Amino acid sequence: MPSNSFDTIVIGSGTSAYYCINALNQAGQNVAVVDERPYGGTCALRGCQPKKYLVANAEARAMAKHLDDP
Ligand SMILES: Cc1cc2nc3c(=O)[nH]c(=O)nc-3n(C[C@H](O)[C@H](O)[C@H](O)COP(=O)(O)OP(=O)(O)OC[C@H]3O[C@@H](n4cnc5c(N)ncnc54)[C@H](O)[C@@H]3O)c2cc1C
Repeated sequence: MPSNSFDTIVIGSGTSAYYCINALNQAGQNVAVVDERPYGGTCALRGCQPKKYLVANAEARAMAKHLDDP
């Protein structure tokens, strides 16, 4: 049965929240997480990870072009 009682409520579900929630869980706290946007925060959804996929694709394309026309 879900509990409506929490030791801590963390606002935001990004990288900072991830470390905060882990530490609180390890300390035995019951933690609620709220976010006004989809769960995961900037890094996972809009920042680091999407950027890395875009950069990797651009690099692969540049290398392929270089093979065609060194
Ligand atoms: C394009 C881009 C590329 C990046 N690349 C890198 C990289 O390669 N390496 C790197 O180390 N860092 C990178 N960063 C930076 C990295 O994404 C941030 O440092 C990191 O996401 C910050 O984490 P955070 O938990 O502090 O904030 P966030 O991940 O932004 O999380 C904050 C969360 O709080 C929520 N929130 C805010 N206010 C409220 C409210 N009032 N009520 C409810 N929810 C709320 C937001 O919706 C959000 O989900 C990049 C950032 C961008 C934009």
